[in-house]
Amino acid sequence: MFDILPIPAFKDNYIWLLLRDGHAAVVDPGDPVPVIARLEELGLSLESILITHHHADHQGGISALLEHWEAEVFGPENESITGRTQALLGGEVITVLGQAVQVMAVPGHTLGHLAYAVPGALFCGDTLFGAGCGRLFEGSPAQMYDSLSKIAALPDETRVYCAHEYTEMNLRFALAVEPENQDLLVRVKRVAALRDADQPSVPSTLAEEKVTNPFLRSAEPVVIAKALELGAVDRSPVAVFAAIRQWRNGF
Ligand SMILES: [Zn+2]
Repeated sequence: MFDILPIPAFKDNYIWLLLRDGHAAVVDPGDPVPVIARLEELGLSLESILITHHHADHQGGISALLEHWEAEVFGPENESITGRTQALLGGEVITVLGQAVQVMAVPGHTLGHLAYAVPGALFCGDTLFGAGCGRLFEGSPAQMYDSLSKIAALPDETRVYCAHEYTEMNLRFALAVEPENQDLLVRVKRVAALRDADQPSVPSTLAEEKVTNPFLRSAEPVVIAKALELGAVDRSPVAVFAAIRQWRNGF
């Protein structure tokens, strides 16, 4: 399995550095500078780049990294990805640093959005966040709901390596949806302590997301009641998800 390290980038991005047997890969290198610095510090060369979706803060570093190293670039087939060598649609199993990686299609934030899963870890870009989910820039609520359901079907102990430090903001929203959720109150305290100590709030686990993330809780009576209050067309999970996501956009 990989050793996984965060490389903070921009204001609130995480580029995930994967290490295995002295070899390195990165997920979503929006900024090449901290990646190059970290790899030079570790004395490692870059073998693989995994891209979840086409936004610049996820792929903007590719060309500079390819000037340093001859790395393979995995990315969605139906999005424009710099230097892509392996086009993926989801459903494939790829090999990264000798490790089998399951590719999942998770449209919603963008239409070609991919997630990469290995036993115990998921790299999900801007699909699932700590206590939140990505904005629907290209996909429909139904697509995003399906994508999140696919992710939720992974084992509970799976660690969620998302691409942004948005957890505190998301928790404020989650509390507005479910003010009485005790797991949420515990998480708020835990995350505040981590952030006060300048530590990342991620990865979380899927188990933790399932009890605190309103976007994985469309079947909960409190969440349904809130969605209906917000004007959800009915109490179906997709309608509930859509209403809560809509509220988050202006929160
Ligand atoms: Zn994005």
